[in-house]
Order: sequence, then C-alpha cells, then structure tokens
Amino acid sequence: MNKTNKIIYLDNASATILDKEVLKKMHSSYLKFYANPSAIHEGGLEVKKVIEEARTKIASSLKAHTNEIIFTSGATESNNIAIIGLLNKLNSKYKKPHIITSQIEHASVLEVVKDLEKQNKIEATYLEVDENGFISLVELKKSLKENTVLVSVMYANNEIGVIEPIKEIAKTIRHFRKNKTKENHLPYLHTDMTQGVNYLEIEVEKLGIDMASFNAAKIYGPKGIGALYKKRSVHIESLIKGGDQEFGIRAGTLNAANIIGFASALEITLSFQNSEIKRLTKLRESFIKNLKKVFAKHDVDLKINGHDKDTLPNIVNVTFDRIPSDLFLVELSMKGVYVSEKSACKSEEKKNSHVIEALYGKDKGSLNSIRFSFGRDTKKEDLDFTIKTIDNILKKLKVWYK
Ligand code: PMP
Repeated sequence: MNKTNKIIYLDNASATILDKEVLKKMHSSYLKFYANPSAIHEGGLEVKKVIEEARTKIASSLKAHTNEIIFTSGATESNNIAIIGLLNKLNSKYKKPHIITSQIEHASVLEVVKDLEKQNKIEATYLEVDENGFISLVELKKSLKENTVLVSVMYANNEIGVIEPIKEIAKTIRHFRKNKTKENHLPYLHTDMTQGVNYLEIEVEKLGIDMASFNAAKIYGPKGIGALYKKRSVHIESLIKGGDQEFGIRAGTLNAANIIGFASALEITLSFQNSEIKRLTKLRESFIKNLKKVFAKHDVDLKINGHDKDTLPNIVNVTFDRIPSDLFLVELSMKGVYVSEKSACKSEEKKNSHVIEALYGKDKGSLNSIRFSFGRDTKKEDLDFTIKTIDNILKKLKVWYK
C-alpha cells in the first residue's frame, strides 16, 4: 500500500465508480419506484412514466427517437441482441449471411461471431488492424459482399483506446448499399460504443450507424444496465422471450432505479466531456513521457500500444520486454495501484491479449501488456506516485530482465 493508504484506481476502462449524484437518485428511486412498470394501476403508471422520461433523456443525448432505445443488462447483452437478433430475423433470406467485424472487438462481439461461424450459420470476415489498431477502409470495401448483412466495428477499443473511423466506415457502407440492386438497406452498421461515451461524439445520426451498444457501468452509472440503440428501420428478433417489454425485443421487468441511474450518469458525463478530454489528454501525455523515462532508466524496452492522437484520453496501454505482466500487476496492486493486464498467463501457457496480437502478429511470442485507464478521480499526484512505484518495481524485478 502507498504512504497514505490511498487506492490509485487506474482501471476505469473495466469499471467506474458510481457517481454520488447518481447514487442519490437511485437510492430514492428504489424506495419510491418499486411497482412493476407494466402494471396498470397508478403505482405501475408512475414507474412507467419515470422510465420513459429516462429513455427520452438518453434518446435526446444520442439524437435518437425514444423508441430506438432498448434497455438491456449491459453491453454484452446489447452486442448479442444486435448480432444474433438481426441474424435470426434475416435467417430465411440468405443461405449463408456474411458478417464483417474486426480482430480487436470485445469478446461479446468476437465470440458471438466466432460461435455463429462455428455453427455454420454465417460466413465471417475478421478485419485485420494495422500497428496502431486501425481497420483499413480499403479492406472493408473489399470485404463487402452481396450477402453481407452486418458490419460490427467498435467505436473505441477497450484495451488500447484506439478510435475507429466510424463515420468513414458508415460512408463506405452507404456507398456499397447504393450500388446494390437487391436488399439495399443491408448491411447494417453496428458499433460497440461502450468505451466512447465519456469522451466521444455520440449523436447516432451524425455517426451514420444503425445499431449501437451502451453500458452504464463505464460512465459512472450502475452495473447491470445498458442499452441497444436500434434505428426504427432496423428489424431484429428478440432473444429473451417472455413479456412484451422493450418493444418486444427484450422481455423482463425493467429496473427503474438502474434506468434512472443510467440516464443521470449519461447526463453528468456529457456535461463535462470537453473539460475531461482536455484534462486527461494532458495527464496522458505527461504519463507516457514519464513512463518512457522510467523504463529507459532501467534499460527495459517499452512500447506504447495504439495511436498517439486518435485515441481515448484515458487509456495508456504498454508492452514491455521479459517481465511477466501479471507479476508487474500484482506488484502495483500491493502498492495500492490498480491496473489491468490483458495477457493473463494461465498455468504454463502464456496467452497474449487478442488485441495486442492483432497489432503485432501471433508469431511475436509473449507480448506482455498493462493497461492504465484513468478516470474522473485521477490526479497528477496519482500518476506521479505510479511512476515512482514502477521505478521501484523495475529495481526489484531486475532478475527478470538483466
Ligand atoms: N464492450 C466493451 C468495449 C467493453 O469494454 C465491455 C466491458 N469490458 C463490454 C463490451 C461488456 O460489458 P459488460 O460485461 O458490462 O456487459
């Protein structure tokens, strides 16, 4: 633990702390809005009203229509519904639909596509990325086919922070659709916006997307709530059968407190998006400079993964030589600095992060990586302490790299 026993939480891309204002709103909501929003007595109607107010707030932040917001349990579910729900709807139209995604998607997209491919239900293309983490628009264009029904490329990557060119991807797809003779509303563009909301433009129309996934737990909101934005013209099947909640797409009683918390968290994060971008960009730049210095001091090769400009301002992902990243992470954790490692070594088998492997290739052997992800509470002093701690850890772990 550090001197003040303070936790330096640099894992905000994994989960954010609940905003106190959000918590206040949720607390009173739990006690007040307990009736089932589908009930038709006054109590139910009251809960329905506050849920619809929250939905309207979220929709208006996205410049979407209210009935284009479907509440889910989080981004994993939204991603699953977007991909499988669309496929189930289109099933009879194609012998084998084609889905394009990228090699650096979150598992909740990648594993869904891989599984569908394994089941022989689809053909899939996994777009490669360059050393910075960007997909190639030329490759995307080449991959689009008559039977392509969906392109799913994330807005910003959760491991390295790289921001994919969503507007250009949308443009490429629109152009392709225009030249189609049949089914020229396809393919749709879905994007996982989970990591982008705190720092990026989120107006769906401007981005040109058809579906998008959101998660309140990454924007200082509650866990267990998220949303799928689905353009009105896009039709999908429900995966969870039951009642007719959420326009028949997602059955199950809604959690009013969580939804109110989600709407409030979104409002708060957007209210200081610009100042946070500025503040964190500065912190990120100086942290990278200091990281480079401290690794150079110990003569350990360090690589900053991702792009230096088209990136989220809160993520710094590094790869270094020889020192196992899990060991590094535990050393940091013992000093109260919490980070993530994306190349968990499991027993004897060293498994690299699929994202880092996509950047440098599968043949590069072990690619240790550590992700530092800043948040609202991250201060310069915290990062200075982290650098000092890394200096000490590098001294201590000399045996690994000398
Ligand atoms: N997509 C991205 C980009 C994420 O970062 C995460 C969370 N790590 C998810 C999807 C899944 O979120 P959840 O597990 O909360 O549903």
